Amino acid sequence: MKAWIFVVVNQKGGVGKTTTSVNTATALARAGKRVLLVDLDPQGNATMGYYALEGLSDLVNTIRKVQTNFNPDLSMLGLLRVMFDARITLAQQVSDQLAEHFDEKVFKTVIPRNVRLAEAPSHGMPGLVFDPSSRGAKAYASFGDELLARLAAA
Ligand code: ADP
Ligand code: MG
Repeated sequence: MKAWIFVVVNQKGGVGKTTTSVNTATALARAGKRVLLVDLDPQGNATMGYYALEGLSDLVNTIRKVQTNFNPDLSMLGLLRVMFDARITLAQQVSDQLAEHFDEKVFKTVIPRNVRLAEAPSHGMPGLVFDPSSRGAKAYASFGDELLARLAAA
């Protein structure tokens, strides 16, 4: 059986990395996969601010350099839009720009901003377990399916 190592990265704190890690791990475990989740982020709860595209090209360049020089197996599986709020025009613009620049690398699933996802940690649960019927939980469940489909094709 093939093992995969995923890294959830973004140069900013407070953008949903931990939430994505926890809920994606849950979705994959629900799909019968064996999952180990490790939090290596020294950044903790750094300040928020979504300038989401700033630094993204640096991040992509860094991934390329590491791939070339150190780890040929490293690749960018995809880009996931999280904490998405359709009422915010900038969110829609950033989303469109991502789709334009990164094309099919952008996952079709969009994780909405959803208060149930934010409430779950204080109950000691992933959002997917805390309120499976919430929009946020459903979105992470769909993302799990999309991720597995993408891996099957990789
Ligand atoms: P990071 O790990 O990138 O620092 P977190 O996953 O800790 O970010 O998320 C930052 C804050 O936003 C947390 O309080 C979290 O509960 C909340 N949050 C994350 N994703 C969502 C979402 N989709 N909807 C609403 N709140 C969210
Ligand atoms: Mg975190």
